[in-house]
Amino acid sequence: MTDFDKTRHFFTLPEGMIYLDGNSLGPLPKSVPARLERMVRDEWGEMLITGWNRAGWMAMPRRVGDRIGRLIGAPEGSVVMGDTLTIKVYQALASALDLRPERRVILSDFGNFPSDLYMADGLVKSLDRGHELKIVAPEDVEAHIDDTVACLMLTEVDYRTGRRHDMAKLTAKAHQMGALSIWDLAHSIGALPVDVTSGGADFAVGCTYKYLNSGPGGPAFIYVAPHLTDTVRPALSGWLGHEAPFAFDIDYRAGAGIDRMRVGTPPMLQMAALDAALDIWDEVDMHDVRARSIALIDLFITEVEARCPDVTLASPRDGTQRGSQVGFRHPEGYAVMQAMIARGVIGDFRAPDIMRFGVTPLYIGEAEILGAVAHLEDILKTNEWDTAQFRARAAVT
Ligand SMILES: *Cc1c(COP(=O)(O)O)cnc(C)c1O
Repeated sequence: MTDFDKTRHFFTLPEGMIYLDGNSLGPLPKSVPARLERMVRDEWGEMLITGWNRAGWMAMPRRVGDRIGRLIGAPEGSVVMGDTLTIKVYQALASALDLRPERRVILSDFGNFPSDLYMADGLVKSLDRGHELKIVAPEDVEAHIDDTVACLMLTEVDYRTGRRHDMAKLTAKAHQMGALSIWDLAHSIGALPVDVTSGGADFAVGCTYKYLNSGPGGPAFIYVAPHLTDTVRPALSGWLGHEAPFAFDIDYRAGAGIDRMRVGTPPMLQMAALDAALDIWDEVDMHDVRARSIALIDLFITEVEARCPDVTLASPRDGTQRGSQVGFRHPEGYAVMQAMIARGVIGDFRAPDIMRFGVTPLYIGEAEILGAVAHLEDILKTNEWDTAQFRARAAVT
């Protein structure tokens, strides 16, 4: 059994803060500063360029990729790190479309993160071959999977509401119709057990600065199903995905296996921070994390509905149907959230009216949930949110 009293001490959290935004930016693991210090002084400082070989930097995107693979049910050698999630979405989609040259439809849903949709739109325009980005309601996705679809591109857990798609079911339907699937796991990895192998995903992508706590700008990952890795064209044909980067050939030849999905120089300091942050996952059982997340969110919902009549639940009530976050709607949700943040309860706001709270059992327990609800109740009862200061929108909401 995972000892959640122990896991909370793996993190540095400001005294008195209730941090319910680990779904957006995870907190600092205590092991990270020393690891970064070592990386900077002993590796960069002492080894300089030789660090790529001597400190194993060049192999790290694959080594760390295998650690990520264990969290998403991916076999060794099927995940590699690098770039940002937005870039990896583009790469996965461009590669997938290439595998279905006769088809023209990319199917996604309104719950997908806008950046994923924007990248698809940009790719369609660049290709200029008549592709169509079809965006339907989340509950209508299954009905729209037909034999015109080249690729299903979905985010498993909705960033706003936490609603969860059934990866295995939708992917099976896609395959039945001859389509490929790309799963964005940004709000899944570290939040719930994921199995891309039994789920049948062809491609999966995700970021690491949310539930995996790698820090702002941490590297993203890409998974390609093993039966596709040696045939897929990486679309972003950078030198580090080349078969022989240091041959400096004029012609591009894709590297073997998942290495071909590498693009350029990986962000090594962030990779080191991620590597240290991943140690925490060796100490926990993802099924325990999931069970506790569901119980904590159930408690959150029960308490809010009993004490805050002005807000309505925006997330699925059935814990198995959502990720590890909960959203509540309020017409003045932005200002209410600012009043919460001013009291040290950190959640965030997603337009048009959702107050979003990430529930991360590694460092959040019943006391934090009850504390957050007490603040919310008080802020709503006293209209504390109703000031010009709290209504003023900041750049990041
Ligand atoms: C967080 C998130 C992103 C962000 O992409 P970056 O390139 O890391 O800024 C993209 N897609 C989804 C689904 C996300 O949740």
